Amino acid sequence: MSGKETTDLMQVFRQDVQSMHAYAIQDSTGMVKLDAMENPFGLPLDLQEKLGQRLGALALNRYPDGRVNDLRAALAAHVGLPEGFELMLGNGSDELISLLAIACDVPPSAANGFKPAVVLAPVPGFVMYAMSAQLQGLAFHGVPLTPEFELDGPAMLAAIAEHRPAIVYLAYPNNPTANLWDEAVMAQIIQAQGEQGGLVVLDEAYQPFASRTYLDRIRAQPQAHAHVLLMRTLSKFGLAGVRLGYMMGPKALIAEIDKVRPPYNISVLNYECALFALENSEVFSAQALELRAQRATIFEALQSLPGVTPFQSEANMILTRVPDAKKAFDGLKARGVLIKNVSKMHPLLHNCIRITVGTSEENAKMLTALKASL
Ligand SMILES: *Cc1c(COP(=O)(O)O)cnc(C)c1O
Repeated sequence: MSGKETTDLMQVFRQDVQSMHAYAIQDSTGMVKLDAMENPFGLPLDLQEKLGQRLGALALNRYPDGRVNDLRAALAAHVGLPEGFELMLGNGSDELISLLAIACDVPPSAANGFKPAVVLAPVPGFVMYAMSAQLQGLAFHGVPLTPEFELDGPAMLAAIAEHRPAIVYLAYPNNPTANLWDEAVMAQIIQAQGEQGGLVVLDEAYQPFASRTYLDRIRAQPQAHAHVLLMRTLSKFGLAGVRLGYMMGPKALIAEIDKVRPPYNISVLNYECALFALENSEVFSAQALELRAQRATIFEALQSLPGVTPFQSEANMILTRVPDAKKAFDGLKARGVLIKNVSKMHPLLHNCIRITVGTSEENAKMLTALKASL
């Protein structure tokens, strides 16, 4: 093919897509993998066998069927779905975030001042909020957290008044800072966003490791949360490979978003695995409990290292400031431990690395490697 033909062919791709980098997944072969908030525990052997039998018996020649509704019902029971709420499923929460952008992409017109719809979120935060907005042609506004990684209430309220966002995302706990927000500040933001006629999406991906859930407040005051959706996922729970996210909210809102969902977005393998996991949820609860205990152990160990500042975590990761993030990352990697260097993600994360909580053996290796890498 000549150079000219190549150039012509590139013109079919959007300019912004051409300038993008593909989501980079680090090669982790043979490494202690503490970079992606995965649950380090596999399924116990007896459960592996039982699950294998169930998956083998599925009708893989058929499209997914009504069994998907059994999963929705099981999840509703698992979370204690509030009265009047509905629950929809996504191929991971990532898909739900994309579907929200599609559903809320109201085209510019006189009614909205000829501006694209806006997604607003605190930053640093989960990258998919900005990415889904960009890909769908919505505007994204990030509002910096305070240096203590708390929500900047006045700045959030000012941004809501100025941009009138269609969606405000609040990850609770946040990624990568791993903290829960002050609930009084959250309540102000939720109220202001409701008053200007927009949605709030609470993202509780790390709920298995957190001391609080906002679902309790929603349940206590349903009228004040008629514009609030709440997402969770089985990824951090222990099934990152299965790809199963879910979103709850008032029936009428979920009904609109559900219209843009591809009809067979949850495969028969996904839903059967998820059902199986929920039937055995005590195994996963015990794992989450163990990871919370490990988190406390690592936190103390990190705190005792010179020049190292771990930040309090309500998730299965610990954001940690080190003297030199690149040196720490490279040193850990050279010693067979993979973490995430988030120091370039945002100025507030200067010299910060993000460490996923692993098994006690993995954490011990990580701590030894980190000490040698500082
Ligand atoms: C990991 C994570 C998710 C999970 O996405 P899945 O697509 O369900 O794996 C969602 N939100 C946040 C904030 C996360 O960190």
